[in-house]
Amino acid sequence: MAHRPSYISDEELLAYREERLRVEDLARIEQALRESRQLRERLAQLVEEEDRGWYSVGAVWRAHRISCPDRDTLAAYCCGALPQNEADYIRFHIDVVGCRLCEAELTDAQRRQQAEEEARATPRRKRLYESSLRYLPSDR
Ligand SMILES: [Zn+2]
Repeated sequence: MAHRPSYISDEELLAYREERLRVEDLARIEQALRESRQLRERLAQLVEEEDRGWYSVGAVWRAHRISCPDRDTLAAYCCGALPQNEADYIRFHIDVVGCRLCEAELTDAQRRQQAEEEARATPRRKRLYESSLRYLPSDR
């Protein structure tokens, strides 16, 4: 059976160049580029066209990729405040599409939220501790 590398689109090539892909995809495209002169030439041509300003990577990206949810939506997703269908969309966008930008954004939001929760939890724990002191025997 002849070795046929899986089809790689122009968008993927440009995304590869911008490192806007999941690690597995980066590796897959890197491998394909190593094996295919044709693919390398296509990438070179894409880069050249881009340098001439025929189109920007961002424009291609936006036109061909499902658009990224905004920051507030990601934050809402993070604390489980989104309706099911929106949450599904974000899961798809990050896990299946593999948007690294949103993944980073989400990690950020999770970190912020965790910090907030800790800040809120501390005084509550302290209050709980202080109120339980009253029930302890005082002569020990
Ligand atoms: Zn995204």
